[in-house]
Amino acid sequence: MSEQRIEAKLPDYGTRTDEITIYAGPCSVESEEQFFEVAECISDLGLTWIRGGAYKPRTNPHSFQGLGEEALKIMKAGGEKYGLKTLTEVMDSEHCELVHSYVDGLQVGARNFQNFSLLKNIGKVTKDSHKMVLFKRGFAGTIAEWLAATDYITMEGNDNVVLCERGLRTFETATRFTLDITAVPVIHKQSLLPICVDVSHPAGVRDLVPSLARAAVAVGADSIMIEVHPNPPAALSDGPQQLTPAQFRVLVEELREIAAVFGKKIV
Ligand code: PEP
Ligand code: MN
Repeated sequence: MSEQRIEAKLPDYGTRTDEITIYAGPCSVESEEQFFEVAECISDLGLTWIRGGAYKPRTNPHSFQGLGEEALKIMKAGGEKYGLKTLTEVMDSEHCELVHSYVDGLQVGARNFQNFSLLKNIGKVTKDSHKMVLFKRGFAGTIAEWLAATDYITMEGNDNVVLCERGLRTFETATRFTLDITAVPVIHKQSLLPICVDVSHPAGVRDLVPSLARAAVAVGADSIMIEVHPNPPAALSDGPQQLTPAQFRVLVEELREIAAVFGKKIV
């Protein structure tokens, strides 16, 4: 039998850039006071982006739907005041232009994973600005479907897309979703796009967030999404999973130490 030589050194799919970007901020933008408090914390930590929901994809139509354009105005003002880039979800094609005019990054949520007309419209609206599009994986989407759907955005002329793993629906009921951490090296293997790990939505509870964030750094994520709210029990959406600014600060300091092991910086 002929012997096949297998190299001892396996490829390193975990290292792509030397910076890990954190997209932190509240699930929903609820008021100027709430958003600015989080913005101040993020900017004190020397981070570059803040996220926040203006249009919320809620399972129940009676739940808080977001402040809409009022939230976009708060985000723009907060971003300018604290020197941060802003990221928010676009839920409908009719809002593409409006959202694009207020923020630096546009998010496609898990529930719109295969809303191909929305994906095309986001590609069109960002064609000249090349603003970042953060494209979340659907709860039941395969990686092949995800990469194929990404082309609906990029074929319109914007390849500044960040893929975001946010947990899948599985048979497991202990957590809200199951985080597919394997998606990170698989995306690095199959695509040139950066991959973000959302560590707040898979678990659905705050005490699991630090563990998932540590895993995201170690697995080689290019960016991490973390929800932060000044008073999580009073949050209008996703209260149980949001970190307080104090908890977020402790976590970022720890992630910086872990990132340093891989020669990376958290920004
Ligand atoms: C969010 O980021 O607040 C959100 C609604 O995420 P997802 O689309 O992953 O549920
Ligand atoms: Mn949320």
